[in-house]
Amino acid sequence: MALINEHYLKLTKNYLFADIAKKVNAFKVSHPKSNVISLGIGDVTRPLCPAVIEAMHKAVDEMATKDGFHGYGPEQGYQFLREAIVKNDFLPRGIHIDPSEVFINDGAKSDTGNIGELVRWDNSVGVTDPVYPVYVDSNVMCGRAGSLIDGKWSNVTYIPCLEENNFVPQIPDHRVDIIYLCYPNNPTGTVISREELRKWVNYALKNDTLIFYDAAYEAYIQDENVPHSIYEIKGARKVAIEFHSYSKTAGFTGIRCGYTIVPKELTASSMDGNERYPLNPMWYRRQCTKFNGTSYISQRAAEAIYTPEGKEQVKAVIDYYMGNAKIMRETLTKLGLKVYGGENAPYLWVKTPEGSDSWKFFEQMLYGAQVVCTPGVGFGPSGEGFVRLTSFGNREDCEEALQRLSSWIKG
Ligand SMILES: *Cc1c(COP(=O)(O)O)cnc(C)c1O
Repeated sequence: MALINEHYLKLTKNYLFADIAKKVNAFKVSHPKSNVISLGIGDVTRPLCPAVIEAMHKAVDEMATKDGFHGYGPEQGYQFLREAIVKNDFLPRGIHIDPSEVFINDGAKSDTGNIGELVRWDNSVGVTDPVYPVYVDSNVMCGRAGSLIDGKWSNVTYIPCLEENNFVPQIPDHRVDIIYLCYPNNPTGTVISREELRKWVNYALKNDTLIFYDAAYEAYIQDENVPHSIYEIKGARKVAIEFHSYSKTAGFTGIRCGYTIVPKELTASSMDGNERYPLNPMWYRRQCTKFNGTSYISQRAAEAIYTPEGKEQVKAVIDYYMGNAKIMRETLTKLGLKVYGGENAPYLWVKTPEGSDSWKFFEQMLYGAQVVCTPGVGFGPSGEGFVRLTSFGNREDCEEALQRLSSWIKG
């Protein structure tokens, strides 16, 4: 008799996007002539840039030849890409990463979801709230989150990111074993300064806490004072694993490629506290067993974004999305809404006007302006009273949506 992993039964059904789709469909049925615009899209929409396409075509052609064919690649990723990452993403910021500390993956979701395998199921966990659901749910699946009581998991410390603290998470007053940080943040679109991030690294050094740092939106940073990598902070190599993704950086959501940094100095303790074990060889062992690498074609595609043309083209797309974010921010602010984020991230976190909760404002916006947003409460208890807007759409749609929001709010 196969017994199930009962922790899966505890998972709350993540109906957020299904619920949104249901409500939008209901609206469309009763308003068949309406043209609904979504500012809720969590996916990029611009096509891949020419440098990437060219590299992919070339890689495909290679695969058609006897000498250029690539079968299984190294589980950790091809050396050419790991070296390009070290040279372009870290060295210019004064960060020394060895290619053996870089693990190419099929996107950051897999690794942020799987990394917890390296540590015991009974470690305590901290997350900022609201939060990217993968961090919490992957801990529920292995039993680490505990049980759900009043909408919160008993073994998870929720660190509220609220207007009151300008969305800067406060250091907990107790120790946690593992903490997830995501900056620039999804869903709030907010960032933390180097000084704030230093507090977390120091907390981790002092408390022997392991930090999982998700830098998926690093390429959207515009401010000099916002760190692109946790390794810009002294001591971080001893306490942090960092996740990167080409999904939002270069439109790779359908290509699938990213990478994870596991520094050689990073260790965790044995049960009795007498020994320290490095996590880099453990992650290598894990990947070699459970992962057979990202496709050669995808890795060549990723390499191409580090060429001079690739860099320029990728930046142009990010500038396009950030251009959307800027007009969204300005227009909504002029309309009297409180808007956070959107300056170093493709997300805007908008406070619902008085009297509306997240879902109510979502419906009001849908029926009043035929514009779709994402209710903030879907990302955690502290998301109540906010909605998330994304700047991943077309400029024309974005402008049309803002026009409608203006008429709706003014009318
Ligand atoms: C989109 C996103 C990722 C990237 O996921 P991929 O699997 O690389 O496509 C990672 N973290 C966060 C918070 C995201 O929003």
